[in-house]
Amino acid sequence: MRVLVVEDEPDLLASLMQALREDGYAVDGAADGEEGLFKAEQFDYDTILLDYMLPKLDGGELLRRLRKSRQTPVLMLTARDAVRDRVTALDSGADDYLVKPFDLDELLARIRALIRRSARRGDTRIDIGDVAIDTAARVVSKEGETVALTAREYALVEYLAVHAGTVISRTQLYEHLFDENDATLSNLLDVHVSNIRRKLGASFITTRRGHGYCIEANP
Ligand code: CA
Repeated sequence: MRVLVVEDEPDLLASLMQALREDGYAVDGAADGEEGLFKAEQFDYDTILLDYMLPKLDGGELLRRLRKSRQTPVLMLTARDAVRDRVTALDSGADDYLVKPFDLDELLARIRALIRRSARRGDTRIDIGDVAIDTAARVVSKEGETVALTAREYALVEYLAVHAGTVISRTQLYEHLFDENDATLSNLLDVHVSNIRRKLGASFITTRRGHGYCIEANP
């Protein structure tokens, strides 16, 4: 899953990006509203974390413009006591908001909830045959036994499992699993896929030649 953080406070931007990376997300950052809108329109992010008070273009206006072309889930960050900002945020098309200063665990939980909602999944657990994916704990188990996956392998399994039954192109996977600073070696996806097959079973991920990868909903 790939997240965009739009925040003009440099320390907060850096710490949010680091926390999200540690939680397994691919993360891009933007330091003002114009850069944020440019990136938000360019990539199909899974969630955008959007500060309300931003230079060049405030969060409300950024969101109003973005909503003309994209329905990306947006979590707005607003200042304490700024009721008007929260009203504007929701009326501009924000899916949720959080008041600064916020608790990091709550922020991460709200992002997971937004991603689940946009995938129309109420449940945090996804079952694929004998493999279970707990998207809240970010743990994968097979026949009840926890399987050790790297952060990137987990991200790949989760993305394909959320879209089970759909063929996902390599381009789409690169866009959702890697951020703009990742070196995209062309064979990297194949390496991750073969490692996942070794851990979860050869048939867990199907290769559709020329199209991409797929996890069958009911293998
Ligand atoms: Ca700000």
